[in-house]
Amino acid sequence: MSTAHYDVAVIGGGPGGYTAALYCARSGRSVVVLEKLSAGGQMATTDQVDNYPGFDEGINGFELAERMERQAQRFGAATVYAEVTGVELSACPKRIESSEGEFTADAVILATGASPRELGLPGEGALRGRGVAYCATCDGMFFKGKTVAVAGGGNTAVEDALYLSRLCKKVWLIHRRDRLRASAVYHRALEEQGVEIIWNTRITALRREKRLTGLELEDVNTGARRELECDGLFVAVGRVPDTALFAGQVDMDGAGYVAADESTRTSVPGVFAVGDVRTKAVRQIVTAAADGAVAAHYAEEYLLSLAEGEGSA
Ligand code: NAP
Repeated sequence: MSTAHYDVAVIGGGPGGYTAALYCARSGRSVVVLEKLSAGGQMATTDQVDNYPGFDEGINGFELAERMERQAQRFGAATVYAEVTGVELSACPKRIESSEGEFTADAVILATGASPRELGLPGEGALRGRGVAYCATCDGMFFKGKTVAVAGGGNTAVEDALYLSRLCKKVWLIHRRDRLRASAVYHRALEEQGVEIIWNTRITALRREKRLTGLELEDVNTGARRELECDGLFVAVGRVPDTALFAGQVDMDGAGYVAADESTRTSVPGVFAVGDVRTKAVRQIVTAAADGAVAAHYAEEYLLSLAEGEGSA
């Protein structure tokens, strides 16, 4: 397969990646976005995005993703649907191996985001797609009229519970503490939608026949055990950054995110990290998009320094 060269390669087509591509393309740079599945990353699995400015009525996450992709394409950014299998980030130019062949680029923007964290219970992997799910908007319809539980207490868990409450007969939210981590704006909505919260409780086992049939629960304060019959479990207990590809090539923080400050510059000159994959306090679509603009700025600075023969970010 042939090698295609670009000024900038963006790995990952979420809001951070596509904003970086938009800004780089508008600076006249040749840009490719390498995306595994479809534009949007985690955003594309969100039913309704209500906190991205400019959409006063809210917008479906998949549609917002498609719009970001088209906007970057309008200025010449290319998208290649390819699975990246290897990178050489210190090489010059930088090299990317993928299912669609090899790419080289002078600057690389890491925008691979994060994936749902598993609970780590025995049988969890085998029950994935047989009652255990990680994305309510993707799989909720399979549980129409049924009883489901959602594990977690963050924004994702609460949004999932609210989404499922419109489809399912009964929704339980199981949280290990006595207080939600999710934004206060959701708390009343949970009550109004009839979502029942089981506080201070952890899931200790998954009951199964051919599919999930229920959960074994333990009260973290009293140790009391009980069973909860349900048809589905949506796991929403946070995310793990998708950084395996870059291990050993860029510095990571203690939690496995790519170490980069607000400049998005990583430990490797010419390599930038944007969005959920980067060390940061607030992981939102709008902060990922902001990272994309910042990365494009420093990538441009790097490309100019390369042209002048300096080559340091
Ligand atoms: P999160 O905010 O990290 O919340 C994870 C939740 O899962 C926490 O409540 C945590 O409990 C619980 N948890 C973690 N590990 C667990 C385990 N092993 N067993 C049981 N419970 C466990 O993750 P998230 O909800 O996926 O959100 C990720 C980021 O995206 C956040 O910054 C969030 O604000 C953002 N986000 C924003 C929106 C929005 O603004 N509309 C929507 C979705 C996500 P503790 O509370 O006890 O730690």
